[in-house]
Amino acid sequence: MNYALIFRNHDFEYEVQAVAKIFIPGVRFQLCRDSELSDAENQILTEYDEKNHLMHIEIFLHGRSYSDIAPAKTEKSEQEFQLCRMLYQGLQKLTGYQPPWGMLTGIRPVRKVLDKLSQGLTPEQACQELKQKYLISDKKLQLALQTALIQKEILPHSLKEIGLYISVPFCPTRCSYCSFVSHSVESAKSLIPAYVQKLCEEIRILGELIQKYDLSVQSVYIGGGTPTAVSAEQLKEIMQAVQNHIDIAHAREYTVEAGRADTITEEKLLVIREMNADRISVNPQTLQDSVLQKIGRCHTAQQAVEAFQLARKLGFDNINMDLIAGLPSDTYEGFSDTLRKVIDLNPDSITVHTLTLKRAGTLYHDANHQNTEIPVVEKMTELSANLLPENGYQPYYLYRQKNTVGNLENVGYAKPGKENLYNILIMDDRQTILGAGCAASSKVILPDGNLTRVINYKFPYEYINRFGELMNKKQQIAGELEKLT
Ligand code: SF4
Repeated sequence: MNYALIFRNHDFEYEVQAVAKIFIPGVRFQLCRDSELSDAENQILTEYDEKNHLMHIEIFLHGRSYSDIAPAKTEKSEQEFQLCRMLYQGLQKLTGYQPPWGMLTGIRPVRKVLDKLSQGLTPEQACQELKQKYLISDKKLQLALQTALIQKEILPHSLKEIGLYISVPFCPTRCSYCSFVSHSVESAKSLIPAYVQKLCEEIRILGELIQKYDLSVQSVYIGGGTPTAVSAEQLKEIMQAVQNHIDIAHAREYTVEAGRADTITEEKLLVIREMNADRISVNPQTLQDSVLQKIGRCHTAQQAVEAFQLARKLGFDNINMDLIAGLPSDTYEGFSDTLRKVIDLNPDSITVHTLTLKRAGTLYHDANHQNTEIPVVEKMTELSANLLPENGYQPYYLYRQKNTVGNLENVGYAKPGKENLYNILIMDDRQTILGAGCAASSKVILPDGNLTRVINYKFPYEYINRFGELMNKKQQIAGELEKLT
């Protein structure tokens, strides 16, 4: 079936497309501008009639039609919102679908609540305003509000307090939904020793900057990829570089994202403990063996449970487990079973992602393997939002991504005191983060709220071969760090 978006006499294409995708996900729209015509069966026309100062939409969708026309607002930004809202209401009428996040397409709903609260609005007023503007459901507003209230207590107050991210971009195999820059250990084997060496060198350079500008590291996060995909010795080398060059005396947390069960061994867990990291992730994504197979993971549900139990036995008292709602071939019953089993294990935090179909993931290209039954995935996230608080987990970070099934969200739930600061900071441009390794991004938040960002090379061979060049470019950051007071 063909779909076309026709834009006449306006340049609000990005937002109009985002609204259309809420109701018609996973299709590639033909885009027609001004006088261009389309012979697609389904057409959505949005128009600014400048002469008569009118906004106009026409929708032909699955044999049904809808049109609306209204006097245009004066300001351009208001016109964009007006056109999107007219389109949203038309599509809602034709499809009968009530999107839980309404017409909010941004990735940071919590930021919107926090901004309203900092303007002096009460929580009720903040929710009311957001509901009226974006037509968000009460349940999602409550989720965003609860998360905002917890974050308000945790967010740092000094610009000199920073986070450190270290990237280990290797995994045992590639999961079918993955869009990260991750390389299978097998294919990248020969690069790993040189990568580890350069990574340690970059950690040393960042350590010098941290010391020179008197910064205070609040959180360290070793992520990937799967950091435990490298050998215990290589992991130790990386963590030793942190120990030698980074002052973590004031850090609130130090995480190693162990991730996949097939990489977690007693030897590596002992390295993590010995090097003083206090939080790990054991990420099963699902405890249904058939689903694990489908997404290309080479471990069983039992192995994930055993990896968790081993970490507990070795004394880890802050363990996160990640789950994904909407995995191919998973069912509501399967998800519910996974969630209950994970709760029974009693980890300290549980993160529930919604499947995102990104172009880089093989799943994106495989329509048969997509589980885009939006109501089912909505029920999965709803179950998490009910069951986790009942079991002592509160939402503390929440973000949305493009192309997420049902336009839904990712939520981190934690037991009180086990919230992960880095996870909040990475989604919120309020604190400087220095990143080392492939694709790691360093962002410096300046006193005026602006930010400077430098992103490292995406691929290990580039990172290794152009390391000197990259470090020269990174000196930009030094000038910016000087401005932090
Ligand atoms: S474990 Fe994570 S980073 Fe690695 S392939 Fe799977 S989704 Fe990608």
